[in-house]
Amino acid sequence: MTTIRLVQGDITRESADAIVNAANSSLLGGGGVDGAIHRRGGPAILAECRKLRASRYGKGLPAGQAVATTAGELDARWVIHTVGPVWSATEDRSELLASCHREALRVADELGARTVAFPAISTGVYRWPIEDAARIAVETVRSAPTDVEEVRFVLFDERAYDAFARQLG
Ligand code: ADP
Repeated sequence: MTTIRLVQGDITRESADAIVNAANSSLLGGGGVDGAIHRRGGPAILAECRKLRASRYGKGLPAGQAVATTAGELDARWVIHTVGPVWSATEDRSELLASCHREALRVADELGARTVAFPAISTGVYRWPIEDAARIAVETVRSAPTDVEEVRFVLFDERAYDAFARQLG
């Protein structure tokens, strides 16, 4: 059984086996949570991301997939980078957002991570409505076949925290 916990705050201040990054497909950094993770985690994370771009992910990491690097100076062993879909009003991309959560947990299982912190993927620059993102995130984690013992959603603001809290009921 995976326990789901909610925390309001900055994910780069969390202690966990793995911290999930809402990356962009370039893997070379960006704004929002991605920028914060690279700033606090230091250059070792970007160095590994560059190596991934030079090898397995020459064209970048596709949306819905996940890959791990060192966590650098963060209080974690790994950062698991996943690329959320950009919200679309005309196309249902929910399966890609679910896939981000499933794939991050699959990578966590491969690594042997037992505690995993997630941000609210796609709900910033990628504009996914928070209520719907919270529903997809919680439903996917609840139904994922994983050995991860604790999934901690770390929500930056109260609105996001409240949306996740409503899903947990
Ligand atoms: P995306 O491109 O997937 O939308 P963003 O980083 O723009 O990614 O936003 C994803 C979510 O992460 C948003 O809800 C945003 O408020 C939140 N966020 C931004 N910085 C942090 C942080 N340091 N810790 C936790 N969540 C953060």
